[in-house]
Amino acid sequence: MFRIGFGFDTHRLDPGREFWLGGVLIPHARGAAGHSDADALIHAIIDALLGAAGLRDIGNQFPDTSAEFKGIDSKILLARTMELIRAKGFSIGNMDATIVLQEPKINPFIPSIIGTLASVMAIGEDQLSVKAKTSEKLGFIGREEGISAYAVVLLEK
Ligand code: MG
Repeated sequence: MFRIGFGFDTHRLDPGREFWLGGVLIPHARGAAGHSDADALIHAIIDALLGAAGLRDIGNQFPDTSAEFKGIDSKILLARTMELIRAKGFSIGNMDATIVLQEPKINPFIPSIIGTLASVMAIGEDQLSVKAKTSEKLGFIGREEGISAYAVVLLEK
């Protein structure tokens, strides 16, 4: 049996915050704001995984009203999501994601992001694809006010 899942996330970028993306700390003057470490790529991947498995979404599994998740490293949430997926008998076929961000350029960090995600998810790097593009200076992303990320995942049972 195959199940497909789709995830999306967006976060505001504020001056002076750490900028975590795909589990990697990106050197930048701004960082993503949120209840957790605000890692938009990991949050999109989590939503894709949960959606594919019929487990609703990140807000249901890890409520942002909970003190337990305040400032939490999203890699922990991703590892816990993988436990939920595997407990339902699923394994990952592949995951494909796109980051939309004006600055900084993310391409140099993609090998590190893929290595980090593969390690946290306990799957092969060849099962993961991460792409990055700008919004051609349009909208809130173009004004460097925020970041978005999209992910699709195929689960197998
Ligand atoms: Mg988020």
